[in-house]
Amino acid sequence: MRFDFVTIFPNMFEPLLAEGVIARGVKQGLLKAKIWDLREFASDKHRSTDDEAYGGGPGMVMLAEPVLRAVEKLRFEVRGSNEEGRSDSEAPSPTSSFEPRTSNLEPHIIMTSPQGRRFDQTVAKELREKDWLVFLCGRYEGFDHRVHELLQPDEISIGDFVVSGGELPAMVMADAVGRMVEGVVGNTGSVEEDSFFRGLLDYPHYTRPEDVRGLRVPDMLLSGHHEKIRKWRREQALRATLAKRPDLLHNAELDDEAREILDRIRNEQG
Ligand code: SAH
Repeated sequence: MRFDFVTIFPNMFEPLLAEGVIARGVKQGLLKAKIWDLREFASDKHRSTDDEAYGGGPGMVMLAEPVLRAVEKLRFEVRGSNEEGRSDSEAPSPTSSFEPRTSNLEPHIIMTSPQGRRFDQTVAKELREKDWLVFLCGRYEGFDHRVHELLQPDEISIGDFVVSGGELPAMVMADAVGRMVEGVVGNTGSVEEDSFFRGLLDYPHYTRPEDVRGLRVPDMLLSGHHEKIRKWRREQALRATLAKRPDLLHNAELDDEAREILDRIRNEQG
């Protein structure tokens, strides 16, 4: 799976590619990531990527042309060309892995925006099915509206709040999607047990020692009885979901066992 990030702050991505699950995925060749410095696509000598808003008012607006050119360039480079000695080689981008001629894939273009559809595990799973994601990272008031009209990007928000730029949202999304790519997280089971993957919250986890300041690990987890432990964890996941996020239960994939456990918990609570 391939990720491209278009940004005026390429250095913000260095930590993502230096350490952690995504960095490992890239090193293993399971993921590819490339950062595109928007300033490289500016047309004036000041390398401007924003300007004042038509109609006045506070706040700068990201210019359309540099973004459009960046998308054209990356589409061309990844799809069509095998020129390795490309002009962006002097860009300060931490290019981790780059493969020209990735057949005739089309990029799925994501515009980070607080106005977009809300990102969640379902959206992450949907994006995992695409082979190639391009994240457009806005700053200031966001992009000139014509970028929306011309690229018709998938506008996605990480929540109903505003952060100062699209870089952190893009990294959040890339992490959530990338960790679901087979092999990126060593143990696939652990991804599937995570909160939201099956529509429920995760069960509580314990590690050594058995006693932490007088609080003992639940006996069940020391019993060595795998089937009972599985069922206990399932119950704990359902209890956590019911207590903290009951709204999730409407769309959760519940089988007979889960429904039975839920009925029991609800009866207990009267
Ligand atoms: N004026 C815009 C906000 C711009 S914030 C508005 O009110 O809609 C600057 C940039 O940060 C945005 O272009 C976007 O790229 C990013 N951003 C801010 N909040 C975000 C969120 N909740 N989800 C995704 N991206 C966000």
